[in-house]
Amino acid sequence: MDLNSSLAAISGIGPSLLYKLNKLNLNTVEDLIYHFPFRYDDFSNNTSALDAQIGESVTLQGEIWSISNIYTRSRKIITKAIFNDGTSPIELTWFNSSWLTKQIQTGDRLQVSGKISKYKNKLSIIAPRWEKIESLQSSAISRQTIHTGRLVPIYPETEGLSSKWLRAKITKLLPQITGKIQDPLPDDIRSTMICLTSALEQIHFPKTWEDLEKSRERLSFDELFYVSLATQKARLAWRRKPLVEPLKIKQSDLRDFIGKLPFKLTSAQHKVLKEILRNLVKNQPMNRLIQGEVGSGKTVVAAIAAYLVHKNNLRTLFMAPTEILAFQHFETLTKLLSPFEVTVGIYTGSRKYQVLSSKYYGKKQKTINTKYIIHTTIPDITIGTHALLSPKLSIENVGLIIVDEQQRFGVEQRTFLRKRAKVPHFLTMTATPIPRTVALTLYGDLDMSVIDELPKGRQIVKTYLVPERKRLDSYKFIAKKVAGGDQAYIITPLIEASETLKTVKAAKVEFENLQKVFPNFKLGLLHGRLKGKEKEEITHDFRQGKIQILVSTSVVEVGMDNPNATIIVIEGAERFGLAQLHQLRGRVGRGTKESYCLLYTSNTSGDDSRRLKFLEKTFDGLKLAELDLKIRGSGQIFGSAQSGRFEFKIASFSNISLLEKTKQAARDLLAKDPALDKHPLIKAKLQDIASEVMPD
Ligand code: ADP
Ligand code: MG
Repeated sequence: MDLNSSLAAISGIGPSLLYKLNKLNLNTVEDLIYHFPFRYDDFSNNTSALDAQIGESVTLQGEIWSISNIYTRSRKIITKAIFNDGTSPIELTWFNSSWLTKQIQTGDRLQVSGKISKYKNKLSIIAPRWEKIESLQSSAISRQTIHTGRLVPIYPETEGLSSKWLRAKITKLLPQITGKIQDPLPDDIRSTMICLTSALEQIHFPKTWEDLEKSRERLSFDELFYVSLATQKARLAWRRKPLVEPLKIKQSDLRDFIGKLPFKLTSAQHKVLKEILRNLVKNQPMNRLIQGEVGSGKTVVAAIAAYLVHKNNLRTLFMAPTEILAFQHFETLTKLLSPFEVTVGIYTGSRKYQVLSSKYYGKKQKTINTKYIIHTTIPDITIGTHALLSPKLSIENVGLIIVDEQQRFGVEQRTFLRKRAKVPHFLTMTATPIPRTVALTLYGDLDMSVIDELPKGRQIVKTYLVPERKRLDSYKFIAKKVAGGDQAYIITPLIEASETLKTVKAAKVEFENLQKVFPNFKLGLLHGRLKGKEKEEITHDFRQGKIQILVSTSVVEVGMDNPNATIIVIEGAERFGLAQLHQLRGRVGRGTKESYCLLYTSNTSGDDSRRLKFLEKTFDGLKLAELDLKIRGSGQIFGSAQSGRFEFKIASFSNISLLEKTKQAARDLLAKDPALDKHPLIKAKLQDIASEVMPD
């Protein structure tokens, strides 16, 4: 067996377990070994019942004197055991675990861990962790305990796949494969860090918190190091790209366009625009990322770039992550470009090459169905979804590729598009907030521009976690606002009602219910399962004000832009990450009117409501993203493994000094050994990642 072995080949893992493992994205032995605990219970306090203090987390070794199930009047099952460690008998209690009486018998020797409490004047432990030990005498020399009496790892779980199971499996696998792991890092880079094998052992079963810290450092270093290497190699490769014909930018064109905008560009937009123009007049293709908070106005900057490229007789492809967003960009760009002779087209799954020459905009065509004039020519600017990747689309004379909300796309998709268009200028945009140092590591191959300013007049979106009893009041409030001409979003976690998630609101059901609550208004329903044309019509109608209240799933999260919408209600808010809620909240407050975000949660206690409370006071996307990172891991920010650029399991972006260290190490290594021929293990490892970021 080695790291690449499939989990299916491991004894004791049948189809049903395999299914559950795959659900956690665990397919190989390596995946399982790299399935790291997200926290540890400290049960290293080995003590005696006599010395144990109430409230203390302890581990005791002793014997079961008796164990039995008790059936309460409310038909719950309680398992009670008397446990004696030779100093003082205590009671162990489990709920709904009747099978325990089959696993634990009177006379068994156990090690138990848990919090000491006092119940009816008796010392007890509620729901203790436990494992059998052969005998008290030999326990010291017998195998290490893994569920009790130590720092006990707690893993991300799924139904039917418990931490207890994972601990047992990983303990068994570790010694079988650690001998086969070679540490790819040369001594000088590794320097004071522990070796990879120890790191992998100790991340699961650390003896002390210090051990754990050391293994975390080593494993985080590795993650960041390979990413740094990959991006720096990619940067060098991009530099070697064939040169392009520098574009000619006429200041008069630029002034002309900016002068016809319905608003004044912010100075941040000006700054970023300048950075882009500096690239376009060079003979090296641009490779730039614009980062800007929700609503900071990235689209218009992209539109200006596309216009100037058009003035050089070159086309632009503009890729958006969803159809809804593509339709919206289509409308926006058509409008922005309407004073000029530019053709804007759309190319998505449901609409191919429907081109509206901007000179027709708003003149002849009134309704959505007739407003598009279908041209046979290829438009100057084509907006689309990943349908743009289709080989059926002819890509000729493309000078600029724009990818909006780039974190939503797989790297392969972006690379593919870029390759097909023969490496023109490349502009990507994201609203995902990333600390600068992190950005340099993650996106070290890209030039970065930041729009760090919102347009004038924007107001903070007043955010409230609304208690259920005030629901009617808030409906009245919405009715009043909408009657006054505003519009509202109502966001639900689900599309359809679910048997297993009975309390979670679903868009289709809410849409029906809310018709009765708001009989005087026109409601719309939007979700991912609608046909492209329906999505388009509803988005259009909402933006035009024909739909006043839009009931939707989080599909509007990315990019939906309707400055007249001032209220967003988010149902089941605890089901969303903070960064995602922030994006949703960014759908309102896009104009100058006072705006509101009303959060509902069915879980009013504990972590969830604390998280949501944080949103009430915090409007800084970066802060929210960082908190998300702490609570839910990097997947929340960078999307799933498929859509994110890199998925970090353990590295934390807050560790700036480690980031700096990895960057330096990567740079030094590449300077010494550019092709990495002297470091074959690193080279091999990098090949996996590199294929994702390399621009060719
Ligand atoms: P995002 O950066 O989130 O993609 P958009 O490009 O969708 O933001 O812009 C958000 C809204 O702000 C749009 O309605 C757009 O027309 C408007 N907007 C953009 N720039 C400015 C500006 N300088 N002044 C006022 N409004 C602006
Ligand atoms: Mg946008």
